Amino acid sequence: MLTRIGDVEIWRILESVDPLYEPGFIFPNIDPDGAELLERAAPGCICAKSGKLSLPIQGFLLRTPDHTILVDSCVGNHKTTRVPAWNKRETGRFMASLAAAGVGPDDIDYVMCTHLHVDHVGWNTRLENGVWVPTFRKARYLLPEADVEFFGAEGGPTYTESVLPVNAAGLSETVSGAHQIGEAVRLVPTPGHSPGHVAVEIISRGDRALITGDALHTTVQCARPEWHFVYDADPVQAVASRRSLLEHTSEGGHLVIGSHFWLPSVGRTQVNGSAFDWVPH
Ligand SMILES: [Zn+2]
Repeated sequence: MLTRIGDVEIWRILESVDPLYEPGFIFPNIDPDGAELLERAAPGCICAKSGKLSLPIQGFLLRTPDHTILVDSCVGNHKTTRVPAWNKRETGRFMASLAAAGVGPDDIDYVMCTHLHVDHVGWNTRLENGVWVPTFRKARYLLPEADVEFFGAEGGPTYTESVLPVNAAGLSETVSGAHQIGEAVRLVPTPGHSPGHVAVEIISRGDRALITGDALHTTVQCARPEWHFVYDADPVQAVASRRSLLEHTSEGGHLVIGSHFWLPSVGRTQVNGSAFDWVPH
């Protein structure tokens, strides 16, 4: 178990940690010393050989008194993507992590996708005899409404392989605003990275945690909230959402769990002038 927040168990469901792209590609307006800042924050996060930044790909399992909730379903197997390390991948690590948390696919009540990018929806479906079928047959899949509109209009392999089959099986529903999942879990709209992006807040017995999704990709964005991510749909809106999220977690004393933060991906934030400090847990 990663941590416990009041009555809620939070488990890390790790799929991979791959060197992906050079820091200057991932963060187009990075500072000249940005790579050093990243390496200082997380020694070893930049591959010495390739110069590429490694990002963990992970989801989180929430076991609340009400529900078993999977937040984000990573890349998945056999998926079509332009990221070479992820294309048509075959790995058992994600499902093994889920099993290690004591959970089988049919135990999941909700699959909550923070947004509909390739590395957050993959295990929504799996390939069975050449046909994409829902992995979590007894779950309701909660999808941000604005992302369904945006990525549905765009189409493409991720939507076709990982979202449409869930819709066809009648398992999906769209959500918007500060949607509540049971007593302890609430969505925090944080648009910009994608139009419908949400973070996931857990509040139980006075304890608070927040799963960032892709509102941030690295802890260095606490000190540098203005760093864009290359695939932000609306970079200016993403910066505004990032700042308001960090203000919220700094005020609330949340345990912050970064979906792509270097492991162990957990800490707290505090206001420091016009930016924020990251305090590892
Ligand atoms: Zn994303």
